[in-house]
Amino acid sequence: MSHNNYPIPAVSLRWLYVDFNSYFASVEQQLRPELRGKPIAVVAVETDYTCAIAASYEARALGVKTGTPIYEAKRLCPGLICVLARHERYVEFHHRLIEEIERHIPVTAVCSIDEVACRLMDNEISVERSTEIAQSIKNGIAKHIGPYMRCSIGIAPNRYCQRRSKSTSVGRNENASVSGAVGIVV
Ligand SMILES: [Mg+2]
Repeated sequence: MSHNNYPIPAVSLRWLYVDFNSYFASVEQQLRPELRGKPIAVVAVETDYTCAIAASYEARALGVKTGTPIYEAKRLCPGLICVLARHERYVEFHHRLIEEIERHIPVTAVCSIDEVACRLMDNEISVERSTEIAQSIKNGIAKHIGPYMRCSIGIAPNRYCQRRSKSTSVGRNENASVSGAVGIVV
C-alpha cells in the first residue's frame, strides 16, 4: 500500500495506541462460534434491569451500546442474545493480546483491559513504518489469537491525540486531522 498521499506530519508520530473494539463481546464471539455474526450484549447479571457492559458489532449496528439498559436493547434489537460476563476469560485474553503485541513493539503502558499505548522508537516514527507495525499487530492478533479480536490502532504525536484520532476516525487507514496535528487510524 502506498502512503504517498499522506501529508507530512507537522510533528513526529510518537505513539501507537491499540484499542480493542467491543472487547468483551469479541472475546465471547472468539470463544463461542455460535455467537459469531449475531447481536450479543454482555451482561453482569441475568435481568432486563441491568445494562450492557459490551455489545457486539451486530448489536451496535442496531443502536445497542455499553450502558444501554437491556430492556431497551431488546426493544432496539429483538434477536439480542445476552451473555453472562466471564471476567477471568477477558483477563486471560488481555494477557495473550499483550504478549502478541509485544512480538511487534514493546508495550509502554496498559491503559485498561482493552487499551494499550506503545511509544515508537526514532526509526519507527515515519507514516510508512508506523503503519506497517500497526498492520503487523493486526495480522498477528488475527493469526495467533483469532480474527474476532478486532482493534483500532491510532498513531499520533502524543497519547492525547492518539485517543482523539481514534474517536474522530474517518475510517480505516485514513488520516484524521486532530488539533492541528496529524493522527492515523489503522
Ligand atoms: Mg475498546
